[in-house]
Amino acid sequence: MRLTFADGDDIELKANRLREACKCAHCTRARIDGVFPEQFDDIKIGQFSFMGGYAINIAFSDGHARGIYPWAFLVGLSDARIDIQD
Ligand SMILES: [Zn+2]
Repeated sequence: MRLTFADGDDIELKANRLREACKCAHCTRARIDGVFPEQFDDIKIGQFSFMGGYAINIAFSDGHARGIYPWAFLVGLSDARIDIQD
């Protein structure tokens, strides 16, 4: 997924990274219970919709569609990825 912001920032995020970072109640609970998958191979973004101009809701190919990703959170995810590459 590629996002281009009005200020010119351009970030790219892979579906598995977004899926791993899902902060919905279901995934948060799964992490606490230790049953959250460590990785999501072959996951794809099914569709996404805008949430009131501050976030997007992403539906993944595994059927999970509860994740809400505010813009700042998405930018943070991409920064983390860049840090790892440095
Ligand atoms: Zn989730």
